[in-house]
Amino acid sequence: MAKAKNDDELVFLPLGGSNEIGMNFNLYGYGPAHARKWIVVDLGITFGDQTTPGVEVILPDPEFIEEHAKDILGIVLTHAHEDHIGAVAWLWPRLRSALYATPFTAFLLREKLRDAGLEAEAQITEVPLGGKFSLGPFDLELITLTHSIPEPNGLAIRTPLGTVLHTGDWKIDPDPLLGSVTDEGAIRRLGDEGVLAMVCDSTNVFVDGVAGSEADVRTALTKLIGDLKGKVAVACFASNVARMDSVIRAAEAAGRRVCLVGRSMHRMAAAAKSVGLMNDIKPILSEGEAAHAPADQILYLCTGSQGEPRAALSRIADGTHPQVKLGAGDACIFSSRVIPGNEVPIRNLQNRLADGGVRLYTERDHPGIHVSGHPCRDELAQMYHWARPEIAVPTHGERRHLLEHVAFARDLQVPQQLAPRNGDMVRLAPGRVEIIDEVPSGRLYVDAGVVTPENGDALRERRHAAHNGVLTVSVALDGRGRIVAGPQVRALGLPTDEDYPMDEAMDDLAHEAEGALKRLSGPDRELDEAIETAMSRAVKKASQRIWGRRPVVETTVLRI
Ligand SMILES: [Zn+2]
Ligand SMILES: [Zn+2]
Repeated sequence: MAKAKNDDELVFLPLGGSNEIGMNFNLYGYGPAHARKWIVVDLGITFGDQTTPGVEVILPDPEFIEEHAKDILGIVLTHAHEDHIGAVAWLWPRLRSALYATPFTAFLLREKLRDAGLEAEAQITEVPLGGKFSLGPFDLELITLTHSIPEPNGLAIRTPLGTVLHTGDWKIDPDPLLGSVTDEGAIRRLGDEGVLAMVCDSTNVFVDGVAGSEADVRTALTKLIGDLKGKVAVACFASNVARMDSVIRAAEAAGRRVCLVGRSMHRMAAAAKSVGLMNDIKPILSEGEAAHAPADQILYLCTGSQGEPRAALSRIADGTHPQVKLGAGDACIFSSRVIPGNEVPIRNLQNRLADGGVRLYTERDHPGIHVSGHPCRDELAQMYHWARPEIAVPTHGERRHLLEHVAFARDLQVPQQLAPRNGDMVRLAPGRVEIIDEVPSGRLYVDAGVVTPENGDALRERRHAAHNGVLTVSVALDGRGRIVAGPQVRALGLPTDEDYPMDEAMDDLAHEAEGALKRLSGPDRELDEAIETAMSRAVKKASQRIWGRRPVVETTVLRI
């Protein structure tokens, strides 16, 4: 490894995933401030919610690094969860750097790139588990961890100014069922060698004890499924292949055949098979075959545990799924956790299932049918004990998680700690850890397939319309600005009242618009814009009087 030059610095720069759980996008920079070389670790998405109507996918804004795209040496993906790889296909055209991933992640990534038409340009280098490779001044080594998806990797990043352990997502599962256990030896060796900084998962920093093992979940599911009568549906994350495998084996033990419902179940099963997993299970039934099987010989493994409206389980609950029906006497097991923000859709989904007579089994009333994939406090303490970093840099958490993690690391005698915000450029070396710059960061919304700015007009107008309704005002004028027809006003999403029917309200608004138009001076009447502004103002003012709100007003001037 080359020696550090005088003005070299090692920096960590999160552009997503610090102060939020989702859209992880981490950068490491090395070199003098005017000529840094960068590696990207993970490039994930987060999901929209009630505040982003019509926007399901949200990306981290790459503006800062896009300007330095030629200095990106590579994009390394730790594992295949959407919050770590989901943005690659969206943002790769702006970064155009080589991709590095282990085989399972590479399989899923390749599919995404193919769907985006980028397969030929975006090259993925497959790195074996535990593999080493170098990107400029960064010597990288993958460290096998356990999580809730195959092939979770931590990353040892060795540089002339010190070594960073970037954990990615992890827990310490003594029996993960698929894949190896946590490579304790590699982490201890790294600790012996000296770890400058550990950039670490904070998701479960408030939870005492340990996350628990997939093997225990298998035992609990086998017992529960063995006791059930009628049809059984199990909802879990498709990416948790060990869980999928456990459910399939529990079904087989109970004399049930399995049917996968939902696109991502099939996608993940294919990805698992591509790396040699789940190859010894009985053939999966198609939905058509399953529909003809006796009720107590079938188990449906479904997507939609988070209440996603278009996912399999939601359609089953609504009775709109073409092949899969659940009803009285059937059971549905949620082998999943409630992701914060999804409480309402999940509750709605469970109410709809219960209303149809389906018995529900959730982690709340049946502890043991789910475990988290992230480290609880005992596991965090263990990792700090193994790695012994000089600096703790918590990521993968909301503000409260990161600050709790800082306090936790301090209690463990980690000498320095720093909880970054997205956009904080953190100098790890030389000198004490310090935020030396703040760079642009933010979010981009995928709106109807188009990447748009976070505060773009379309979503702002949609939100405004959703809260306040819409009025359209149209008027036809002749060449000299005299009214030929209208103004006519129509309403969308505004309530009516018996005492003041909608027709009357529209007539009154039209009258206001006409008055405003007639008050315009001759020259102004030549200008469509002046007319539109005047009518819009008058209608908004009257709306305030009628409804107490200001709807979106859309005006049209037609010249005849
Ligand atoms: Zn994650
Ligand atoms: Zn993950």
